[in-house]
Amino acid sequence: MAARLAAEEQLPREELICLIACRDEEVRSALRTAAEAVRKKYYGTDVYIRGLIEISNYCRNDCLYCGIRRSNAAVQRYRLTKEEILACCEIGYELGFRTFVLQGGEDGGYTDAFLEDLILEQKRRYPDCAVTLSLGERSRESYERLRAAGADRYLLRQEAADPVLYGRLHPREMSLENRIRCLWDLKEIGYQVGCGFMVGAPGQTPEHIAADLEFMKKLKPQMIGIGPYVPHRDTPFAGEPAGSLEQTLMLLSVLRLMFPSVLLPATTALGTIAKNGRELGICSGANVVMPNLSPQYAKDKYMLYNNKLRSGAEAAEGLAMLRQSMEAVGYQIVTDRGDCAGWTNGEETN
Ligand code: SAM
Repeated sequence: MAARLAAEEQLPREELICLIACRDEEVRSALRTAAEAVRKKYYGTDVYIRGLIEISNYCRNDCLYCGIRRSNAAVQRYRLTKEEILACCEIGYELGFRTFVLQGGEDGGYTDAFLEDLILEQKRRYPDCAVTLSLGERSRESYERLRAAGADRYLLRQEAADPVLYGRLHPREMSLENRIRCLWDLKEIGYQVGCGFMVGAPGQTPEHIAADLEFMKKLKPQMIGIGPYVPHRDTPFAGEPAGSLEQTLMLLSVLRLMFPSVLLPATTALGTIAKNGRELGICSGANVVMPNLSPQYAKDKYMLYNNKLRSGAEAAEGLAMLRQSMEAVGYQIVTDRGDCAGWTNGEETN
């Protein structure tokens, strides 16, 4: 099945479901080998780094799985200033980061005008860097303004393409329809777009995952973010088990085969459930890691789930350790904007 998926980049729905549900180590190993070959064809052994800046943990949403949900009164809220964010970029640039990812809860405190001003300043100081936003659902007009200011990429996981599962994971006032609308708007406006989902989200079945993969085939994203669901004690899903390491690794391989040139991170959540999770992710087909450049006080408060991977190490020391651990498994971290293969001058060429 691995060879067929590699050749056809898709499987009929029933076979896809069967593959997702498969626990056979031989099949998983064949998927991993095929995925590594495809990844090497497009990206060699390069690993792109993104400097993640967790700019705010204020959030208007109340997603049932998320530690910074609106109704979690135990969270100490913070919002970084423009100067704090630019200071993170300065440290990151010196270390070789050429992409900055601004991620946060849906914080009404960040107006379009504030973000425009911030992005313009980032682009003025670092014209050779990409700016990625991960700030949730906004209006089309807002996405247009931020793109015009210079933002290059936008990450917005669909979370669940199946409406029943989406409804189980989110409060009534949120809609899958709007989430999908946002993703298509972002694409049309010209962002490199990332979507994705949590592996092992409460109530998720292989059929749900197949629906996500099929949705992604239609969207054709440049980036896909998947990581295991990890529980947070102050959420309604506190008692639900975390997603599994093996299933996440297997899905990374499946994604590499279905979307050969996609930018695929080995996520923080993967590094949280297993000490060498990110290295295993890279060896399963992923090609991106997102070290955290946030100030320590923000890292401590941006708790999406318990035990989130956050070393107390300085950014430089953390990066040196990551560089070493990637080299130990045969890959190297590079200083590069790291656009999607086939993406030149703001356009997709293949
Ligand atoms: N507000 C933005 C949004 O909705 O896209 C960005 C921030 S949001 C916290 C980033 C991602 O964290 C979500 O897309 C979700 O998949 C992930 N996340 C939230 N809670 C999680 C949990 N308990 N376990 C694993 N991932 C989680």
